Amino acid sequence: MDLKEAIREVEGFPKEGINFKDITPLLKDGKAFRNAIDAIVNNIKNKDIDIVVGPEARGFLLGAPVAYAIGAGFVPVRKPGKLPWETESYDYDLEYGEDSLEIHKDAIHPGTKVAIVDDLLATGGTTKAVIELIEKLGGEVVAVEYLIELEFLNARELLKGYAVDSVIKYN
Ligand code: IMP
Repeated sequence: MDLKEAIREVEGFPKEGINFKDITPLLKDGKAFRNAIDAIVNNIKNKDIDIVVGPEARGFLLGAPVAYAIGAGFVPVRKPGKLPWETESYDYDLEYGEDSLEIHKDAIHPGTKVAIVDDLLATGGTTKAVIELIEKLGGEVVAVEYLIELEFLNARELLKGYAVDSVIKYN
């Protein structure tokens, strides 16, 4: 089964010039969803991972089932003000303006082996921020996994030194 067929491309969303990759058709197709999760699980199942970190919001949808499948814990990374306990936060630049992400301070400990799971790798800026948060808490990022990678944006340059995998590639 070609998983790419389950991705809907939406021209001009959320603004002009962007060809948005919509994963909702894949999520509602039981076989495609299972195959996608299995493919990510397959990439990391021998890496002895303690924690899967998923960034808000689509990282929750993929990260949680991956964590369950490998018997790891799941930790959310969220937009500011959403997490109830003490947080570590990281500010990062966007094309226009700034954004910030947060993680619970007690979610990761020194030496924790972490896999990041998200839906899509574009410029890598979001992932870089997530890596900063995990490393600030002493965690070790042993894998970075995506359902989709936009290869033409060359995010792997930014993520050099990390083990990056993706299931569906656009070039
Ligand atoms: P990056 O930080 O530039 O790598 O952008 C990746 C983040 O933006 C991910 O968390 C994605 O959920 C989101 N994103 C960017 N483009 C798309 C898209 O076409 N479809 C779905 N999510 C996207």
